[in-house]
Amino acid sequence: MSLAFLPPKFPRFFAAVYGLVERIVRRLGPAIRGSHLERPFTAVERWTKAVLFDCRMCGDCVLPATGMVCPMRCPKGMRNGPCGGVRTDGGCEVAPSRRCVWTEAWHGLKVQERSREFAVVHPARRHDWQGRSAWLHTTPPEEDAATSSPAEAVLRDPASPLEGLLRRGVFAVTAEMTPPDVIVRDEFRQRLAHYRGCVDAVNVPDGPGANCHLSSLAAAALLIGEGLQPVMQLCCRDRNVIALQADILGAAALGVRNLLCLTGDGIGQGDHAWARPVFELDSATLLQTATMISAQGRLRSGRVLAEAPPLFVGATISPLAEPLEARALNLARKVAAGARFVQTQYCFDVPRFEAFMREVRDLGLHERCHILVGLGFLSSARAAAWIQRHVAGANIPDSLIRRLEHSSDPAKTGMDICLELLDQVRAIPGVAGVHLMMHRQAHRLSELVERSGLLAGRQAGAWGEAMPARRKAGTGVARSAQCSDS
Ligand code: SF4
Repeated sequence: MSLAFLPPKFPRFFAAVYGLVERIVRRLGPAIRGSHLERPFTAVERWTKAVLFDCRMCGDCVLPATGMVCPMRCPKGMRNGPCGGVRTDGGCEVAPSRRCVWTEAWHGLKVQERSREFAVVHPARRHDWQGRSAWLHTTPPEEDAATSSPAEAVLRDPASPLEGLLRRGVFAVTAEMTPPDVIVRDEFRQRLAHYRGCVDAVNVPDGPGANCHLSSLAAAALLIGEGLQPVMQLCCRDRNVIALQADILGAAALGVRNLLCLTGDGIGQGDHAWARPVFELDSATLLQTATMISAQGRLRSGRVLAEAPPLFVGATISPLAEPLEARALNLARKVAAGARFVQTQYCFDVPRFEAFMREVRDLGLHERCHILVGLGFLSSARAAAWIQRHVAGANIPDSLIRRLEHSSDPAKTGMDICLELLDQVRAIPGVAGVHLMMHRQAHRLSELVERSGLLAGRQAGAWGEAMPARRKAGTGVARSAQCSDS
């Protein structure tokens, strides 16, 4: 029987008892470790923690730093949560009948007046430590797994045209494209035509909604070949740490420079609900990994690469998902893990997004990463209701849905709403750009960009002097920039 519901209710008490036990055991550790007492000791630890915390014996216990809630109970195994899928009632995206463990962790830290610790990046899980005693084996600090500091990042050349634009303070425009399943070349080109000249970079999602599509790596390479600058999304759901790193290296070799790191949607949402979820890393540890490769030229194994590929590493954030008050600290954690730009989930509720940005500015995060606010086109009240139902954290205000319901021309009203929201979010201090998610409405992109004046007389993707000369010849980046400049 598990009493795991008790620690989140009394985090102070359990933290004090745990701390005491841990201190005593650590003193005895050298005598027990490696002796015939280690196995029985580990069995007692396993049983006690299982009853009290529903512990999974990951071998690297972070309970005191997570409000006495075991993060390994998260169905995605996130060591750094929450994901963006937390439901409005605090329920888990994957198992809605249960509360999100990271919402409980936030509550536990808050009660202990240690909420700032929510921004700490916890190292990735090691499978060879599974089942070992965390009390007997102290974990060495992760060898500065991230990162180049934001200051170092500014000193180096921009890795991509998008980074060049943002560093020059130009209000950037990106948009998301759902990759096709198969490539019939002309169809793909027609699809791309909606984006050409309208946006600075195009996001290619990685199995969005846990559905199988053309890989984001292949789609990104195709985009480069067509003269568009991709933001390649990479999620942790379907690959272990070896495959993730291989794809980062492969993408860099193909000229991809913008990399967006995500945890990924739960498998159950998609068209292969029986498939095995991997989630060996989460978005924060994937950010660390990509930054380690790019800034230090090193793999997680420690192996040093012949050359460090230049990457502009970014993350996603859901500013309007629960727990609302933890979202800015969640962003702080991603910035600490290496995020240099952030694209947000839909932000239709501007006053709430403004409140989020106030916290972001208080923490100084807008100076350490570029924030692109996510917006979408609502073509009808039905489309809005669909987004509201299926996209956690979208939070479309009722007033917008009513406006669409009562409109005789919902598409026109949808365009008006989008233009108004664009005007409002652009005025918020700290917003560096906009990320447009035009689900099945990409054909309206050019009208939207033109009427909003988003490009303000400049060419999409124009970045000019921001890119060092040595990168202007020969690479995929150079080709992308030249074409988008034209
Ligand atoms: S909502 Fe996300 S972070 Fe929270 S427990 Fe569920 S899968 Fe984990």
